[in-house]
Amino acid sequence: MIGGGNTAVEEALFLTNFASKVTLIHRRDELRAEKILQNRLLKHPKIEPLWFHELEEVLGDDNPKGVTGVRVKHTKTGETQEIDCKGVFIAIGHAPANELVKGKVEMHHGEYVQVEAGSTRTSIPGLFAAGDLTDHTYRQAVTSAGMGCMAALDAERYLAEQDD
Ligand SMILES: Cc1cc2nc3c(=O)[nH]c(=O)nc-3n(C[C@H](O)[C@H](O)[C@H](O)COP(=O)(O)OP(=O)(O)OC[C@H]3O[C@@H](n4cnc5c(N)ncnc54)[C@H](O)[C@@H]3O)c2cc1C
Repeated sequence: MIGGGNTAVEEALFLTNFASKVTLIHRRDELRAEKILQNRLLKHPKIEPLWFHELEEVLGDDNPKGVTGVRVKHTKTGETQEIDCKGVFIAIGHAPANELVKGKVEMHHGEYVQVEAGSTRTSIPGLFAAGDLTDHTYRQAVTSAGMGCMAALDAERYLAEQDD
């Protein structure tokens, strides 16, 4: 597991249900995750943190196709090492895919598309946005799907109004 926030720690703990050993690789020596999660992680017998390291390369085989390990680099010394593993999970943050509209519509929190409260209208008439692209708080499948439905209805109404 690569990362040090809530997602990385939660997923590392979850992986212990299936894996005999989980290595949590983090580029610092302290975690951003909530204290209660940190405590659970640090005392878990199957989890080993590897501090001051970042992922350099995922190693794998073609036949059969799959991950065989990772090459990681020490963030201070630059020294690299390879660790055998069967899976790599990356939880190092979230960046909305906004290339299509960046610089063209009003944004919030730097990179999320701003929509009017209670609607999916953006700052451009006729352009509607929904889901993770607009939402830095919930970012869930069900909230995104709900907003998708709202956007479809908003778009339909917008088009109907154009016909009037
Ligand atoms: C590891 C992980 C676990 C998760 N677990 C859960 C969970 O248990 N429950 C839950 O509710 N949610 C979960 N989520 C969150 C959930 O997946 C998202 O909230 C949801 O998929 C967001 O839906 P969306 O339609 O807004 O965006 P996405 O599902 O990301 O869809 C956006 C689509 O737009 C496409 N796209 C992007 N840019 C362009 C472009 N320029 N042109 C054309 N197409 C483009 C992308 O290819 C993508 O297909 C999880 C997310 C992750 C990463």
